[in-house]
Amino acid sequence: MEKTITVIRGDGIGPEIIGQALRVLRKIEETSGCTFHFQEALAGGCAIDACGTSLPEETLQKCLNCDSVLLGAVGGPKWDGVPKEIRPEAALLGLRAAMGLYANLRPARLFPQLAAASPLRAEIAERGVDLMMVRELTGGVYFGEHRTGIENGGLTAHDDMVYTEREIERIVRRGFETARKRSRRLTSVDKANVLDTSRLWRKVAHRVAEAYPDVAFSDLLVDNAAMQLVKDPAQFDVIVTENLFGDILSDEASMITGSIGMMASASLGDGPRGMYEPIHGSAPDIAGKDLANPVGTILSAAMMLRYSFGMAGEADRIERAVSAVLDAGYRTADCMSVGCTRLTCSEMGERILRELC
Ligand code: NAD
Repeated sequence: MEKTITVIRGDGIGPEIIGQALRVLRKIEETSGCTFHFQEALAGGCAIDACGTSLPEETLQKCLNCDSVLLGAVGGPKWDGVPKEIRPEAALLGLRAAMGLYANLRPARLFPQLAAASPLRAEIAERGVDLMMVRELTGGVYFGEHRTGIENGGLTAHDDMVYTEREIERIVRRGFETARKRSRRLTSVDKANVLDTSRLWRKVAHRVAEAYPDVAFSDLLVDNAAMQLVKDPAQFDVIVTENLFGDILSDEASMITGSIGMMASASLGDGPRGMYEPIHGSAPDIAGKDLANPVGTILSAAMMLRYSFGMAGEADRIERAVSAVLDAGYRTADCMSVGCTRLTCSEMGERILRELC
């Protein structure tokens, strides 16, 4: 089997964490008989510097003509002042839209070894956190019309939140399909007591639910969901929600698992091709110091093997290797606890590689 992977290192810690994920993928290549062709592409701040735009056409074409994309992170203070159309983050929105990646899957799992690093009280953390957030990624307020102008004598801003029945149906279906592969529980999160988009969301979700009688289905208002995530996260298996709510809730879910540096994500459309990236940003405060936690990126590469390449066994191997390294007490600075051994980014990559042998 041969797969072409577009590699976008990006900005800040992006090149460091991607470097470690590529070492892991090369090791998988050696032992699995699969050949990976890596093609590098620029996006984000480094692309603005080199090409004057955060998403050069060449990058877009490489992403549209490959089997999957592995991305580090983009952005940083250097590019905070650039026009919003070419901001580093615009590259991500552009890629998601052009590649039709409407579903963002973010597992939030509290590794038992990292319970001490979770901000949750011990008795809550001990009940475990192992949920999958399925977030709609190409609709809603982020893709609606944005405008600011003078109205009634004062500056007024509008951000339109729009959802079509089709957009809701396909992401809710993805939620049900994901739940079927886990413990068959799905919570749909909306704000149906206030928003029309949420009322449509709820109506469509209930209609789709009729086709999945084997999945336990419930609705939750987003404000309650935010509370329940910190009060009793063990109650959740799969959560499906719209773009803005998902953005906020998935960060909350990842934070309760101990470190943002551990968390992976997959963005998928209708076909097997996806974009895989850690959930964190470019961490300019620690960039270039070999301090970053590469685990979120390495686990994103594992998700690529599982969801896009059908290599579940190899994905399991990577996840087991990460767990073994944590069992042995190795930590990067972001999730360090008393009695553990502190590693740099490259040392963490090296430890995980050794466990893969
Ligand atoms: P951030 O996620 O980059 O950093 C938040 C904090 O977490 C920082 O203290 C950072 O050091 C730490 N951190 C993040 N990843 C880490 C890792 N792997 N290991 C150890 N520590 C880690 O968020 P921010 O500071 O708000 O954003 C910085 C830049 O990244 C901004 O320009 C922002 O727009 C951009 N950003 C990009 C993405 C993306 O590329 N997908 C996502 C979020 C933010």
